[in-house]
Amino acid sequence: MIMPLLQGLKITFSHMFKKTITLQYPHERPNIPPGFRGLHALNVSHDKAKCVACYLCPTVCPAKCITVEAGEDANHDKYAAKYEIDMLRCIFCGYCVEACPVDAIRMTDTFELANMKRADFVFTKETLLEKK
Ligand code: SF4
Ligand code: SF4
Repeated sequence: MIMPLLQGLKITFSHMFKKTITLQYPHERPNIPPGFRGLHALNVSHDKAKCVACYLCPTVCPAKCITVEAGEDANHDKYAAKYEIDMLRCIFCGYCVEACPVDAIRMTDTFELANMKRADFVFTKETLLEKK
């Protein structure tokens, strides 16, 4: 009866003096590893979004959470008049980034996506352009 108790205490005490592996979040911040797939951001070139509304990313997206609507500018170039990602459905697979032929979208290290309203989880083009 006493032996299992002692074995349990031995394990407990052996862990008490090991290096702490938990973080006092949010006061301590985690080190985000390279390649982490967090919130998306749209890349910019010459002060406008690089996206050419080719529809590849909404096509490959397994969660079907990307909405793109194409527009045409004065030079008859296509651009994304509307670009939205529903983060409640996104599974952060990164396929959209891999599929993009013009490097218009990337994933950032932003992982704190809590929100109070469902509507606020739909990230618009303007919001995604502001992400660093
Ligand atoms: S990370 Fe995956 S699920 Fe999320 S928007 Fe991109 S393709 Fe869709
Ligand atoms: S982000 Fe890239 S893949 Fe998606 S519609 Fe724009 S250009 Fe195409």
